[in-house]
Amino acid sequence: MYEIGHFIGGKRVAGKSGRSAEIFNPATGEVQGTVALASPDELRAAVENAKAAQPEWAATNPQRRARVMMKFVELLNRDMDKLAEALSKEHGKTFPDAKGDVQRGLEVAEFCIAAPQMMKGEFSEGAGPGIDIYSIRQPLGVVAGITPFNFPAMIPMWKFCPAIAAGNAFILKPSERDPSVPMMLAELMLEAGAPAGILNVVNGDKGAVDAILDDPDIQAVGFVGSTPIAQYIYGRGCSNGKRVQCFGGAKNHMIVMPDADMDKAVDALIGAGYGAAGERCMAVSVAVPVGEETADRLVEKLIPKVEALKIGPWTAGDDVDFGPLVTREAQKRVLGLVDRGVEEGAKLVVDGRNFKMQGYEDGFFVGACLFDNVTKDMDIYKTEIFGPVLSVARARDYEDALDLPMSHEYGNGVAIFTRDGDAARDFASRINIGMVGINVPIPVPLAYYTFGGWKASGFGDLNQHGPDAFRFYTRTKTVTSRWPSGIKDGAEFSIPTMK
Ligand code: NAD
Repeated sequence: MYEIGHFIGGKRVAGKSGRSAEIFNPATGEVQGTVALASPDELRAAVENAKAAQPEWAATNPQRRARVMMKFVELLNRDMDKLAEALSKEHGKTFPDAKGDVQRGLEVAEFCIAAPQMMKGEFSEGAGPGIDIYSIRQPLGVVAGITPFNFPAMIPMWKFCPAIAAGNAFILKPSERDPSVPMMLAELMLEAGAPAGILNVVNGDKGAVDAILDDPDIQAVGFVGSTPIAQYIYGRGCSNGKRVQCFGGAKNHMIVMPDADMDKAVDALIGAGYGAAGERCMAVSVAVPVGEETADRLVEKLIPKVEALKIGPWTAGDDVDFGPLVTREAQKRVLGLVDRGVEEGAKLVVDGRNFKMQGYEDGFFVGACLFDNVTKDMDIYKTEIFGPVLSVARARDYEDALDLPMSHEYGNGVAIFTRDGDAARDFASRINIGMVGINVPIPVPLAYYTFGGWKASGFGDLNQHGPDAFRFYTRTKTVTSRWPSGIKDGAEFSIPTMK
């Protein structure tokens, strides 16, 4: 048993609120530790530390801040296995997948080494008689990130790396389900040279989140999690005058055209549908074969591959395709949704509901499930299941297939598998979804592009990582300057124009 407190002012501190949550080992179902749930006073202490440290950090030249990110990348590489192990133990994902979680965050830290370039302003000489105009990009001050359980390394790094590289001080409120890795990241940032107080981790639940949203010194909040909470945070944060961006849930479709390479499409669906037990916001949860003949071929090839998926604890190493779900509630919720699909009349062609992991009977495992004949009106189609459940929704033709993701509430990711360039181009152009894959099932953009969904998958302006992250965590000031030699005598009463 271990206890996780907070990371405030450059050190681990114990929680003082008297409230805590249990941390489970998802593979065994046992409680392995506890995490403190911060009170508003503890959040305030973190903000005070951040506020005191931020001006000097902002005044540190961007090249020096970039060197801290460079060192941080080196330390992440050094501790990769340690971080991935801590991650798998609390999240349950396989060890190689946990390393991928750290690596994708590391790549954002790498991108942030470009801070001197990203912070550059613009300059126009002679914009008027003797007049120069320039813009400067400045950090906001103290900013915050609230992150979900499913990527406890990557998503915190999406948030704090650009914010800190830009000269802000950061308050991270990670998920209470798997808090160990965010604490380790804060220690590594300190070791990399970020001054104490520049990255604080405040663990907690709704109480800590509300304290962040109401704190007058926090200028911006970046959130990632489920859509109802995203909407709540967006509303409350904005009404308190903060800059807020919130990324929510998803239902990602993969269209399979009749001309697609069927074996490659099936492999793509298996990895994207069941990897990380489907607990990814970019997981493919709906396969849309175009035409009955394509659908029959697809389902026939999918069934044996879904049945052959290897499930187990992270300790089983590379031998496992996916692990348990994160909590008992998540397991119950997913099993309930599978029951619901059966009641609604979808055809459950692979039923993983009775899966029991030998030696791990109390773990939060759910066997892989595959539904055929899923239709638009069903709850299992409308809801984000967030488990190892793939639905096949058959489409008559291309237009019918396009209509499914177009009319779905969510708009995070989507993919098309085809050999037809015209169809792929038309699809990428017309689809109303933030991230599109062409023969790529999980089109998560690399760190130097931006990541963000449309519709109910994203609220607010600007995306995550890439140049947008620097824009989100900074503001622009525009200076118009003229020296005495350029100033005409006498007062001017009409608005100056360029006429
Ligand atoms: P969640 O919404 O339950 O929790 C996210 C964060 O909000 C956590 O830090 C949590 O402590 C906090 N929170 C939870 N309930 C709250 C409440 N009532 N008031 C205030 N704060 C609250 O999400 P989760 O279960 O941790 O993560 C899974 C969800 O995240 C899925 O819907 C998934 O699609 C989504 N997700 C989206 C993206 C994206 O970029 N769009 C990326 C990863 C995950």
